[in-house]
Amino acid sequence: PCALGLATPTAIMVGTSVAATNGILIKGADALERAGNLDVVVFDKTGTLTTGSPTVVAFKSTQPALLERVISLTVLVEKESEHPIAKAVRDYARRQSPAEIPASSRGEVENIPGQGVRCVVNGKLIALGNARLMTALVVASKSTVISEFQTLHEDKGNTVIFVSIDGIIEGAFAVSDELKPDAATAVAALKERGIESIMVTGDNWKTARSVAAACGITRVHAEASPEEKAKIIKDLQSQASPRSANTFIQTVVAMIGDGINDAPSLASADVAMAIGAGTDIAIEAADFVLMHADLYTVVNAVDISRKTFRQIRQNYIWALGYNSVTI
Ligand code: ADP
Ligand code: MG
Repeated sequence: PCALGLATPTAIMVGTSVAATNGILIKGADALERAGNLDVVVFDKTGTLTTGSPTVVAFKSTQPALLERVISLTVLVEKESEHPIAKAVRDYARRQSPAEIPASSRGEVENIPGQGVRCVVNGKLIALGNARLMTALVVASKSTVISEFQTLHEDKGNTVIFVSIDGIIEGAFAVSDELKPDAATAVAALKERGIESIMVTGDNWKTARSVAAACGITRVHAEASPEEKAKIIKDLQSQASPRSANTFIQTVVAMIGDGINDAPSLASADVAMAIGAGTDIAIEAADFVLMHADLYTVVNAVDISRKTFRQIRQNYIWALGYNSVTI
């Protein structure tokens, strides 16, 4: 009878330790089981499908005379943000080394998740972020210089970040974030296993589509706030799984993210995977912690989970057979 009792725990133990040697930490056997039945994997874009270390490739200011001023104001606002874009902007400013503006009065930096940051510096409201944030704050429409800059860079798959000072767009950054080298192979490998990949992002539609196309993803949700990302996950879960034949089976959804602006969706998913140097929140919410940044570990996690549960079933057959014969 011991063989029956050991059928599950031994397989789980071996499964989790094989996973650990592959850089996959698993919290709990139930998550391991759910990962074997996945229908859909939802990827966050920034920091998950892309390397998450973006660089500023261009900067445009409406008035060249103000260039230095805009850059240094930007740095003051992005100083404390942990968003990868904030780091890119800070690095760019350091390379340009503009004269620092003394901030006699700098208010609290307010972070608007999935949109950007804003702060009052020397009595002026400075905001940095995507078009969505600008729509909410900006009083004057974009100048043609900025519109042309936006079109040029969004067509290339770059993210455009606007800088507004007291409701007027004074400049824009184009940020390029490279796709992880194995993004396309991981998506293809998941497809082979019958798992669909979907991308969600807070970034704009044009950039999102261009990145998705590059890694072979056709279903995209862009311009989504962290709460909307969570809602997308819940909507997917309420649909019938492709495995449903006569009885209704819920779609099993995994969310892969780095925890920046995707913690709510990680919490909603059936299987949450935090990737790379994920934030503490991501690691807290995750069922799987993927230690390496490469995306193929997602495929490895699915394989390990499937093999472990196949092994458990085999162990039961052997144990039952052995017991029946000896009885
Ligand atoms: P993703 O879903 O791709 O990970 P996020 O939800 O983190 O993207 O961010 C969505 C968008 O919000 C970014 O593409 C950027 O335009 C804007 N944004 C977010 N945080 C910042 C910031 N600190 N500075 C400037 N822009 C930001
Ligand atoms: Mg992100």
